[in-house]
Amino acid sequence: MKTNKQIILFLTFMLLIILSLTIYHTVKANQEESLLFVYLDPGHGGFDGGATSIDKSMCEKDINLKVCFYLKNYLEKTNIVVKMTRNKDVALSKSKKEDIHKRVELINKSNCDIYLTIHANAYPSSSVRGFQTFYSSNKQQNEYLAKTIQTSLQMLDKENKRLSKVITGKYVLDNTTKIGCLVEIGFLTNEIDLQKLTDDTYLEKMAFQIYLGILNYIEESRQI
Ligand SMILES: [Zn+2]
Repeated sequence: MKTNKQIILFLTFMLLIILSLTIYHTVKANQEESLLFVYLDPGHGGFDGGATSIDKSMCEKDINLKVCFYLKNYLEKTNIVVKMTRNKDVALSKSKKEDIHKRVELINKSNCDIYLTIHANAYPSSSVRGFQTFYSSNKQQNEYLAKTIQTSLQMLDKENKRLSKVITGKYVLDNTTKIGCLVEIGFLTNEIDLQKLTDDTYLEKMAFQIYLGILNYIEESRQI
């Protein structure tokens, strides 16, 4: 009899543990679902340096990664879930084509609410400068996100009159199924931009303005 009682007690105890674990996981899953999730894509990496400064001393890939890290930090402080397509100086594949396909695959397979692909520019004429956001017209919200970020970035440079622009022919923008945009943070081939883009304080400020742009987008989207 004593043994039977012990068995019943043990089974009840186990049942309670299973029940509380189930409740815990359900609550946790619900909490995670309600969190906002942003996928950041620091352009290039590894063998693919991306755009370079005229003297070739600066590579776009390193600047893109820095901005993404600063941005990740701000987003996570607001309880926003962040993933990055890369978090070190690596390419995602052996060829540029496969690398970019992999980035799109990662973003599309995730359940992210927003993605941002961060790049820096280069141009034959060294007088061309300024940050600018680009978006694909395949999702209506892309335009609004790109505009909101562009407006926020303008706080860094009031002389920058560039507007967010619709674009085609960019593999990531054309093929992602999520809401997102491309942020071109400046021209490495322009002296003024280069000076800024090699200054970590400026990069952090830039990340902060992108972060504010994302927050504005979320706030406005919730009201629609
Ligand atoms: Zn690039």
